[in-house]
Amino acid sequence: MTFNSTLDSIKTYETGRPIELVVREYGIAEDAVVKLASNENPLGASPKAIEAIIKNAQNAHLYPDDSMFALKESLAKHFDVDKNTLIIGSGSDQIIEFCIHAKANEKSKILMAKTTFAMYEVYAKAVGAEVVRTKSHEHNLTEFLESYKQHKPEILFLCIPNNPLGECLDSKETFEFLKQVDKNCLIVIDGAYQEYAKAKDLSKAIQPKELINTFPNAIYLGTFSKAYGLGGMRVGYGIANAEIIQALSKLRPPFNITTPSLAAAIAALEDKEHIKKSVENNLAQMPLFENFAKENGFDFTPSYTNFITYYFKAPLDSTKVADYLLQKGMIIRNLASYGLNAIRITIGTKEQNEKFFALFNTYLNQK
Ligand SMILES: *Cc1c(COP(=O)(O)O)cnc(C)c1O
Repeated sequence: MTFNSTLDSIKTYETGRPIELVVREYGIAEDAVVKLASNENPLGASPKAIEAIIKNAQNAHLYPDDSMFALKESLAKHFDVDKNTLIIGSGSDQIIEFCIHAKANEKSKILMAKTTFAMYEVYAKAVGAEVVRTKSHEHNLTEFLESYKQHKPEILFLCIPNNPLGECLDSKETFEFLKQVDKNCLIVIDGAYQEYAKAKDLSKAIQPKELINTFPNAIYLGTFSKAYGLGGMRVGYGIANAEIIQALSKLRPPFNITTPSLAAAIAALEDKEHIKKSVENNLAQMPLFENFAKENGFDFTPSYTNFITYYFKAPLDSTKVADYLLQKGMIIRNLASYGLNAIRITIGTKEQNEKFFALFNTYLNQK
């Protein structure tokens, strides 16, 4: 069978290995496996969110509220924005897809950093659009401006902070850059890790309200999968002016969020204590990862997220490191598929992190 030729250049997205796979393949007990691969919240979901999921299981036979009234009301209050500036997706991934389908086709260009979230490229290629990348791996606004002027892309992605590298643009400088972007270019600000960035350095915080009031052509994306600890529930959101929201809404499949997911997201948003604890654990543990890198001579990007990226020099090889750790029941993310001799480690609990350092030390000492 032949398929759409746009699929030929797409590589299937590689997710963090699931715990079940390590149990199956290496015979390691499920509770001995540590997953620091997908930037999930190591403290788990808010207990209030879990309660909401269980409570709403009773309504499993009913379609969810497709207007998503209650979650939109919570988000509108949280961000101090109007309800009609919101769209909810099955993860913010789905909203990335809506953005590209709404705006791009085989004649379009889409601009992004050299090394950034892989799904931007997957959706871009699916519609046959040309992906334009800046030269540096990390976000560099001077390069973005040059590339923007040269290519006049239909869509511009800024991942603030950036996955998988962890760096974060300054919000004032970002706004200055965006002022030079044409109003017909869709600006996508992916804020999947903003909760962590904000807690570390307020000058990195993007206020969605200020963003969309300043730039009618911008959309802010947020997710419940990272700091809010609900990766398994698949809820993300977009905040933009009504014109953009109305366009994207035409592409949204009905009932794209389940009832328990909607309830969980509302509860998670309200549990300020859990978010605070999660962000604090991250801030407290991050320096241990920086010290470990320094002790072992690895370069790393100072991170504004809940992960850190270590860069290796030959003969140390990221694929061998990742494979060794996997066999020991420690799942981390190898960045070889990005063309980097690097690994990305999600910051876990103190115990998980200690296990990571111990295993990695054993590997380094046996070489
Ligand atoms: C995790 C992530 C997302 C979206 O995750 P969902 O689970 O689909 O909400 C989007 N962008 C970046 C950069 C991410 O790391």
